[in-house]
Amino acid sequence: MLDPKGKVALVTGASRGIGKAIALELGRQGFTVAGTATTDAGSERIARYFAEQEISGDGFRLDVSASESVGDLMQSLQAGIGAPAVLVNNAGITRDNLLLRMKEEEWNEVINTNLNSMFRVTRACLKPMTRARWGRIVNISSVVGSSGNPGQSNYCASKAGIEGFTRSLAREIGSRGITVNAVAPGFIETDMTSNLPETQVQGMLNQIPLRRLGRAEEVAAVVRFLVSSGGAYITGETVHVNGGMYLA
Ligand code: NAP
Repeated sequence: MLDPKGKVALVTGASRGIGKAIALELGRQGFTVAGTATTDAGSERIARYFAEQEISGDGFRLDVSASESVGDLMQSLQAGIGAPAVLVNNAGITRDNLLLRMKEEEWNEVINTNLNSMFRVTRACLKPMTRARWGRIVNISSVVGSSGNPGQSNYCASKAGIEGFTRSLAREIGSRGITVNAVAPGFIETDMTSNLPETQVQGMLNQIPLRRLGRAEEVAAVVRFLVSSGGAYITGETVHVNGGMYLA
């Protein structure tokens, strides 16, 4: 059985939404959690909710779109609570627009934050995992990486890229005892989905066999499984958590 005691789990974008639920779940399992936010106020909030729930760990500031920021975080982790044995690449953004109207900036921002970040953060965590000959990497994708979605060509491209990255890395580092998987949520109740027009929400609900939005905790439960001993023989997979809205 896996003993999470003393193992560090890094969760990017843990200040709210899905990342917060994952950070709390891994903390409850006994991992020491490094949760990140883009601001000092956000990282302090993370430290507070860890303390409230008696979770071992701390909040850190991280901008996944900047290499220096990733380097700084890794240095402070290694000098402090230790190098991550579990990495959850969760931070992500949307900048929706129809392609004809999309600015290059909107394209680049999404690809840089959602996809290039996988390269930056994962590469920075790999050496210590390889040395330990144990690691768990979970990348948060999206159902639309498989289904596509009008107005989200940048976001869908980033998420499809994450899944290709996941499969490739799983083949590369499986022999070192490291698993790499993706979790693809459907329509989950968070800040990211809170401002959608009511008609769009209704339209989505009609396409979801379970007829409701998902909860962040329902995504966190799948991440928990993938990093637990129960998930030890799963690698290179994308696990869909979407109430049946996409059935391939
Ligand atoms: P959210 O509520 O908008 O939270 C986004 C998180 O990412 C926040 O913690 C935010 O930090 C962080 N973040 C944003 N830009 C960042 C950057 N440049 N560097 C580091 N952290 C950054 O999002 P969510 O709905 O929980 O989504 C989490 C993940 O699930 C994303 O990858 C998203 O694409 C994916 N997803 C969500 C849904 C859904 O329906 N909600 C569906 C499918 C996939 P701050 O608080 O500091 O801004």
